Amino acid sequence: MRVAVVGAGVVGLSTTAELLRRGVDVVCHERAGGPMAQRSAGSSRIFRLAHPTPDLVRLAQAAREGFGRWEQASHTAMIAPGGCVISGDQVPGWAAAMAAAGAAHEIVDGRSGRLRLPARRPPSAALVDPSGGVIDVDAVRAHLIEVTSGAVVQDHVYALEDTPTGATVWSSAGTARFDAVLLTAGAGTSPLAAQVGIYTPPALAHHVRFTFPVDPAVSWQCWIDKPSAGLATYQHRSGPGRWAVGGSIDPGQVAWEAGRDAATAASRDAVLRYAREHLAVEPRVVDTLYCVTTPGLADGFEFRRHGAILAVSGENLFKFAPLLGEVLAEACTGGSTPAVADLARR
Ligand SMILES: Cc1cc2nc3c(=O)[nH]c(=O)nc-3n(C[C@H](O)[C@H](O)[C@H](O)COP(=O)(O)OP(=O)(O)OC[C@H]3O[C@@H](n4cnc5c(N)ncnc54)[C@H](O)[C@@H]3O)c2cc1C
Repeated sequence: MRVAVVGAGVVGLSTTAELLRRGVDVVCHERAGGPMAQRSAGSSRIFRLAHPTPDLVRLAQAAREGFGRWEQASHTAMIAPGGCVISGDQVPGWAAAMAAAGAAHEIVDGRSGRLRLPARRPPSAALVDPSGGVIDVDAVRAHLIEVTSGAVVQDHVYALEDTPTGATVWSSAGTARFDAVLLTAGAGTSPLAAQVGIYTPPALAHHVRFTFPVDPAVSWQCWIDKPSAGLATYQHRSGPGRWAVGGSIDPGQVAWEAGRDAATAASRDAVLRYAREHLAVEPRVVDTLYCVTTPGLADGFEFRRHGAILAVSGENLFKFAPLLGEVLAEACTGGSTPAVADLARR
């Protein structure tokens, strides 16, 4: 069997790795100069079991086991423990989801000594996910590049066609026929999927995360804060003496039409103002990480198929990457279209 994976982000690479492990002939086409340079760029992400539904909590549990296998194979730690704290209106709902999935968690008073946050004013209550932590993206990238070596080619895929016996891929390298095609092209998925009649959310938006200098000795937990008023943020350590903060900016200011420069400036203003008012960090941006996101999608993912072509959409996929690799490899070789609810019950 011959499989084409379009896009060498963390999802495409994880799937390529799993297909190779199963002995499948796979080519991963990446249009950029190197892998994991778009939505999967940077050096850190948050891992958490905490999610709004029991199914997503269960899938994150399975993904954590997958990271464990990668850690064993590469002899490298990939998730720095420390926990993840959730605050804001979603605390009761997310705590209930964790309870239903049997995941360890705790609801604590915002002034509890169990919280280690950079907050100038503590949240009223918080959900502590002790399994959460910071994903070392550099370690994941190094592992995936090593195990997919030889299968990733620099190649821009322009067009697809479903055929009675598989699919044809047109790319900068020419035309090739495959038994199955997987679209894990991130922001590039929707226009390719549409060519074969698969709908994935097409809208795009700008997102920028900012990093501030902090005392390297601090051991703050990852923090997701969605207050009823004010800026919703996610924050975490991003290397020694670095604290990364991303915010949910007014959608109009980061809409695709606003343009990258204006969206970056608006995001910077909002996050800097927030950092000055709410955080015990030096309000000086030392790093920015830009990416193109799909607005309206939160946690989780969806798969859609037409014939031999399977497309993936979703946001915040990094924490699910090892699980997605396994599930998608199985779906490519077996011709299935997995649903989140079924996966969570496996
Ligand atoms: C600032 C930021 C913070 C984040 N925080 C978190 C977090 O804390 N936790 C978490 O779990 N997730 C987080 N995410 C989300 C997570 O990083 C992404 O969901 C994940 O990396 C997406 O991976 P992907 O493989 O789907 O997409 P991508 O990494 O974008 O990969 C798609 C690839 O396809 C290639 N491509 C596109 N079109 C074509 C084409 N036509 N031909 C060939 N190649 C093509 C692109 O060049 C790209 O390399 C964050 C993202 C950002 C940017």
